Amino acid sequence: MESELLRLKQEAEEALGRIDDLAQLETFRVTYLGRKGGLLSGALRQLGSVAADERPRLGQLANAIKQEIEDRFETLKAQFQASALTRAGGEVDLSLPGRYLPFGKLHPVTQVMEEICSIFEGLGFAVAEGPDVESDYYNFEALNIPKHHPARDMHDTFYVTDSILLRTHTSPMQARIMEQQEPPLRYIAPGKVYRCDSDITHTPMFHQVEGFLVDREVSFADLKGVLTSFTHKMFERELALRFRPSFFPFTEPSAEVDIACVICGGKGCRVCKRTGWLEILGSGLIDPEVLKMVGYDPDLYSGFAFGLGVERIAMLKYGIDDIRLYYENDLRFLSQF
Ligand SMILES: [Zn+2]
Repeated sequence: MESELLRLKQEAEEALGRIDDLAQLETFRVTYLGRKGGLLSGALRQLGSVAADERPRLGQLANAIKQEIEDRFETLKAQFQASALTRAGGEVDLSLPGRYLPFGKLHPVTQVMEEICSIFEGLGFAVAEGPDVESDYYNFEALNIPKHHPARDMHDTFYVTDSILLRTHTSPMQARIMEQQEPPLRYIAPGKVYRCDSDITHTPMFHQVEGFLVDREVSFADLKGVLTSFTHKMFERELALRFRPSFFPFTEPSAEVDIACVICGGKGCRVCKRTGWLEILGSGLIDPEVLKMVGYDPDLYSGFAFGLGVERIAMLKYGIDDIRLYYENDLRFLSQF
């Protein structure tokens, strides 16, 4: 037993002499000093099987050897660590692990807005952007909403002056583009819009994509076809669409469009309030009065227009139940997209 211990000591010392980095040192620690399976720890355990009168002397020897090896191990470890630090300070150590910078991501609303735009671009629509600060004329009057029209009450407008306001929809681009170009036209206008309103489904600023098409012989069937293609691509499945008669001053006839509930598939659930349908956008054929205002002949041209809320689409696509989550800047929420 004694010679076994001395042999182990010599072997360990030689092994220590051959070590030249921290990784080898760790292998040494596991081999000789490890609590489970370490050779020195194993030798100490074997003391139980030696004769009782020999046990104290051999025990002392074994502990002394273990202590000595541990001390030399610690000294060597400190040396290696110190030299690693010096190296890091003096030159680049390519073996050190890298430091990761967190990646930024596009906001879910931006992602969905880009997706909406790319679907419509695939259908041949061009993208046009206009000013957030808009004149009363383009926001209302050019869209068949004269002063004192009751429809203005629905908009909860932020006015800057009597004639300047924060646009309440992206529809002003319709008039701006039609004024400058002749049909055929096929445009979408994405952007921020503003209304004085705030609750679980409304924020004072939100995003809208307005789309319109003007050409000869455009009918409601064309509108239906375009919106059906869009919803199927957006929600990645063939959802049923429902057109409900509605009223907007700048379209006639007008319809609100519902899709079969994306959560329950139309059976009825909490999200669709047991109706099986979800409202996703407003649409209609462009009112002849609007066409006349930009100088088009309504007997020659017709068109359709629609406007959809980007936050609303993103809520349905990702199953989000509170619109305010988009604007609280909570990374735990935002990093999920
Ligand atoms: Zn449902």
